Amino acid sequence: MRFDILTIFPQIFDSYLDQSILKRAQAKNLIEIHVHDIRTYSKQSHKKVDDIPYGGGAGMVMTPQPLYDAIKAIKKLNKGRVIYFSPRGDVLTQQKAEKYAQELIKKPKTGFILICGRYEGIDERVIDLVVDEQLSIGKYILTGGEIPAMTFVDCISRLIPGVLGKEESHLNDSFSKALKRKKEYPQYTRPRIFKNKKVPDVLFSGNHKDIEQWRNQHLK
Ligand code: SAH
Repeated sequence: MRFDILTIFPQIFDSYLDQSILKRAQAKNLIEIHVHDIRTYSKQSHKKVDDIPYGGGAGMVMTPQPLYDAIKAIKKLNKGRVIYFSPRGDVLTQQKAEKYAQELIKKPKTGFILICGRYEGIDERVIDLVVDEQLSIGKYILTGGEIPAMTFVDCISRLIPGVLGKEESHLNDSFSKALKRKKEYPQYTRPRIFKNKKVPDVLFSGNHKDIEQWRNQHLK
């Protein structure tokens, strides 16, 4: 079973995943963890991966092309589900983690493709086109999806038989209660048309009232 992590800060993972239980689990070939730099897939000049949001607003949005191409390429190696970490996703609970681990135990050849957002998040069209599921690790906002990805890999891996020693058994673990979702509107950045999907016209109107109304109507 393999985890493929997509990030623009691959070094963040170096120390955490190469220690202790996760190091041992990889050495025993119980799990495989591959970290990919999204930037290497960018076809934009200077390997750019972000741009300003259409419709205005603070911060930057991750552009669709590098992410989309990275996911498409990695899907050839990992047939598992594509998860985007987002504060507006369903909150990861121990119950969910057990469900994911059970899936992996049943189909050891599968895994997960994990997308770490940065800035204000990723272009909504990547979510529409290739993301299977959105997961939050709690009702708070971090600067990026790297800690959520490590949380996910850590939490699922320890439920795979053989990863924990007897003295570290997970059978007595406590469970956390699911939390309420956060709502956010879809984000879009350049290009205006991507894979035949257009950015909604209202975001070009320059009419802030209309944009706000549209965003309020599209909270997810
Ligand atoms: N503007 C966004 C926050 C972006 S935070 C909003 O309000 O929803 C930047 C990135 O960090 C996100 O794209 C996501 O990948 C990650 N992130 C931040 N907090 C998270 C959380 N609680 N759970 C999962 N991912 C999170």
